[in-house]
Amino acid sequence: MKFTVIGYWGAYPEKESATSCYVLESNGSTVVIDLGSGALSRLFQYYSIEDIDGVVLSHFHHDHIADLGSLQYALLVQQHLNETNKKIPIYASKDNPKDFQRLTHNGTVGKAYQEGHDLTIGSVHFSFLKTKHPKSCYAMRITNGENTIVYTADTSFFPELIDFSKDADLLVAETSFYKGMDGKKAGHMTSEEVGKLANMANVKELWLTHLPHFGDHEQLYNEAKEQFKGTVRLAKEGLSFST
Ligand SMILES: [Zn+2]
Ligand SMILES: [Zn+2]
Repeated sequence: MKFTVIGYWGAYPEKESATSCYVLESNGSTVVIDLGSGALSRLFQYYSIEDIDGVVLSHFHHDHIADLGSLQYALLVQQHLNETNKKIPIYASKDNPKDFQRLTHNGTVGKAYQEGHDLTIGSVHFSFLKTKHPKSCYAMRITNGENTIVYTADTSFFPELIDFSKDADLLVAETSFYKGMDGKKAGHMTSEEVGKLANMANVKELWLTHLPHFGDHEQLYNEAKEQFKGTVRLAKEGLSFST
């Protein structure tokens, strides 16, 4: 199982980078997780459309889905050029039916996932936990039976995240705010909360992602590290975890 960061900004991308987007590879299947602004352009540094077997979306905020339309146009153009006839499944919650409707268009087909029901894509299994966020959003626990990666997506801290992340090999946690700031209202976590989560869940490694456009990210790293003694990394494009 290989997990690679493509985009790691919250809200909007800085130059030559993207907001939320990750790629999971396992036994020949390639799954994109979230498709934020700038994501497709950065993704093409590493993968082609033909490589993508599916897309899993955490929620419908722009910084997680902005390039969905670009993917649909890319498939449309390549269909016209007879370069592909593939249909890419896009998995998301149906909590907001209007948002979900957008997923079936040109070369993409919407498929619903649900909390409490595992989703299997190729050799990997996804389970979902609804998070605390202004728009309906789901954290993902991904396993191939041997190794486990947890992606918090967007959320403020809540205790169920600890069990959901328990003993993961890698926890990819949104870190939108610095220690001492109040993330609850906006539905986001601080570096301190993320470090405590990693510690309480006994994960092996912690990545900080969905990074803010202010302050010094090294401070986020240091504040998380105060709470968690395992490996901590700041997400950046191309950062990769292999098991
Ligand atoms: Zn976000
Ligand atoms: Zn969000």
